[in-house]
Amino acid sequence: MNPNQNTSSATKTVYIAIVANGLLAGFKFGIGVISGSISLIADAINNLSDFLTTFVMLIGIKISSKPADEEHPYGHERFEMIGGLIVSIILMYAGIDVLTSAIDQLRNPTLESIHIAMWIVTIISLVVKFSMMVMYRKSAKQNGSELLEAGEVDSRNDVIIAIALLIGFFVQTQYNIVIDGYLGLIISLLILLGAFGLMRDAVTVLMGKRPSQKDIDAVVKILKEHEDIAGYHDLLIHTYGKLHKFGSVHIELDGSMTLNKAHEIADKIEREIDEMCSFEIVIHLDPIDYYDAKSNHVRLRISKTLKNIPEIESYHDFRVIDGIVEFDVVLKEDCEASNEAIEKEIREALSFVEQPIEVNVDRNYLLRNHK
Ligand SMILES: [Zn+2]
Ligand SMILES: [Zn+2]
Repeated sequence: MNPNQNTSSATKTVYIAIVANGLLAGFKFGIGVISGSISLIADAINNLSDFLTTFVMLIGIKISSKPADEEHPYGHERFEMIGGLIVSIILMYAGIDVLTSAIDQLRNPTLESIHIAMWIVTIISLVVKFSMMVMYRKSAKQNGSELLEAGEVDSRNDVIIAIALLIGFFVQTQYNIVIDGYLGLIISLLILLGAFGLMRDAVTVLMGKRPSQKDIDAVVKILKEHEDIAGYHDLLIHTYGKLHKFGSVHIELDGSMTLNKAHEIADKIEREIDEMCSFEIVIHLDPIDYYDAKSNHVRLRISKTLKNIPEIESYHDFRVIDGIVEFDVVLKEDCEASNEAIEKEIREALSFVEQPIEVNVDRNYLLRNHK
């Protein structure tokens, strides 16, 4: 199956979902208001929320796929998150509104009798949501899309809600027990929960969340395969979406290498990373001076001392410039001491070094599980 076919089947699923949710929301709201059933009104808001999120999803897919331009050099993929944020705020407002009405209903129920239209619209909803669940599952399997999977989960919840409503109608007609307010309460809480989840997902991405471990592992694998590099550190990855990923990493090379050779190696790694994981990565070169006997001697002694400081995971960028010894240390993940305290500890441990020392204390959050 070609990818275009997949996308069009996904888009078709989304279109059908928008129409179905829009119609369900409209009918349920109308019937809910006329009959005074808060649970039906709540379910209408629930469908409205599905309508809005799928709508934003569709616009999101359209805008996100626009290529980068002068004003948006990192592409447009984060639009989806902004859309999600706006929808989540609308849903919170609606959810709180339904919640307060449901609480009012608990005090004085307004649902006096179950109208036949309530049965019909809820049974239709059950059938429609069940078909949508099957449809979402099929497209999700073809596309492996998280959005479609979320659609499947949501449809399943709506099937459960429809069943709960039908039970509520039955209980009221049969035993004259009104549970409408309680059902409305539960559904409004579900709406609020969904809205919070949507907001949390959007905000973490916008804040710049940790890139996926799969991406980190892929980059590390390529770096490890290159035998001409002595080490790597300070990996940074910025993602603006699946299509726009940027990064930088330092690699350590033999300092006696010509610039041409070093550049060739860096270019090769950049290309491989781009091909394997579509990252635009920039490589910074750190020369290691293997041949200067004096600096080598200092390096070995410092290296030995640093190994005895338990908070330190590794060190890199060791160099002697104008008589000043410079290096960076990376702290272990669980190190709770402040950078200043560690720096003080290092300086005390290295008091035997005659040269002035310039030390940088780093915490690398991306490479912390790689040695
Ligand atoms: Zn470096
Ligand atoms: Zn270059």
